[in-house]
Amino acid sequence: MNLRPFFFEFIKLAVLVFGCVALGLFVHLSFTSGLIAVVVALLVYILMIGFKLYRTIQWLEKDVSDAPMSIGSGVTDQLINLIYLHKKNLEKSYLQQKIITQQVNDIIAAIPSGTVILNENHEIEWANYPALLLLGIDNQKDIGVKIETLIRQADFCEQLTKINSKGFEVSSPVDERITLSIQVAEYARHKKILFAHNISPHIDVQRSRKMFIANASHELRTPLTVISGYLEFIQGDESLPDSLKMPVDKAVEQAGNMQTLIRDLLLLSALENKSLKAENLTHIQVSKHLKRIMQTLHTGAKAKEDYEWVIDVDKDLFIYAVEEELNSVCYNLIHNAMKYSEKASVITVSWSITDKQKAVFSVADQGMGISPEHIKHLGERFYRIDSGRSRRVGGTGLGLSIVKHIVERHHGKMEIHSRLGEGSTFSVTLPLNPLKDNQHIG
Ligand code: ADP
Repeated sequence: MNLRPFFFEFIKLAVLVFGCVALGLFVHLSFTSGLIAVVVALLVYILMIGFKLYRTIQWLEKDVSDAPMSIGSGVTDQLINLIYLHKKNLEKSYLQQKIITQQVNDIIAAIPSGTVILNENHEIEWANYPALLLLGIDNQKDIGVKIETLIRQADFCEQLTKINSKGFEVSSPVDERITLSIQVAEYARHKKILFAHNISPHIDVQRSRKMFIANASHELRTPLTVISGYLEFIQGDESLPDSLKMPVDKAVEQAGNMQTLIRDLLLLSALENKSLKAENLTHIQVSKHLKRIMQTLHTGAKAKEDYEWVIDVDKDLFIYAVEEELNSVCYNLIHNAMKYSEKASVITVSWSITDKQKAVFSVADQGMGISPEHIKHLGERFYRIDSGRSRRVGGTGLGLSIVKHIVERHHGKMEIHSRLGEGSTFSVTLPLNPLKDNQHIG
């Protein structure tokens, strides 16, 4: 601590007292006049300090950016100096904070997606202009209003309580033709920031792509049926020269592959365009259902003799499902096990029930297996590991995509375990009734 101001203050007081005493004694040489002089000196000193404090208060009440007070060397001057420096620092950090807050506000306001800041009770604290356009939230009027009272869609209110990194889709409360993808992130202890993106253009592109595929497949089906019919007719003609037999056989095979491809494309677009309805569900005994599938497979190819089958089915297991779609799931998975395994290998097919009352259909083979980097892509349209082999065995690259779609429509999930060179197990887990127990299987 600097003691110099105290020293100066002491000198100042001493000079004042001695000055007054000397004056007092000069006027009247007595003890009383000396005492009066001391009292006067002290009063003058107190008045000086009072005046300085008065000026200090006046100065503090003004903006600190004004010139600092003239600084002396006493204690009060030092005190004023310290207050001045402190106030200046405060002012500086306040200004910096103001600039940062303004910058953050400008950045959030410039985000092209609707952005809303909510407190822990879901009351609106702030919203940008796109939030007004997409969600109808007004940054002037709606501050402090609970967001659920403005956006009353049940799905929105339910999803808001879950923090889901993938986000969810809702139609805009401003214009229901606009589809919004909503993402919510939590920050600073239960506060939330909500982003709304307009994904209608993306959905429109997807819709026209799906319509194009559906229409093109539909238009191709009839001429292809005619071409196949003629080719089969030519193939059966005994007078066909030997030189043409091989090309005609190849043409029949390729036309068959194209028909399967078109059938799968039409099935996929049908799955995408209709939702699962209670009236389409049937109560299916899986053991009987599997028997029918196996018969179809065995008549189609020389499957029965070519593989060693292990069938393990819970006879009491019944599930609600769309029967045609369940046919597709079972047929595709068993057919794949046959396509991608060597003759005489074991294929195990099972239906069982889990502790959580979910049905599990599983097909395990001892085939070529799949390396890990491919597994996450299986289920994407036309994703094949070896497209040459897939085509040779009559594959379209759409089978697993169809399976995945159907399983997800039934609120189930598909799992794949595989080791290269050792074989694969494809399992689907389904709820016993997808519309009653419509919790997604996580
Ligand atoms: P594809 O009609 O080509 O069989 P899928 O969608 O059914 O189309 O399967 C996609 C790809 O997954 C296949 O091309 C194949 O490479 C791989 N695959 C599917 N099932 C198996 C299996 N059981 N064993 C090894 N690979 C498989």
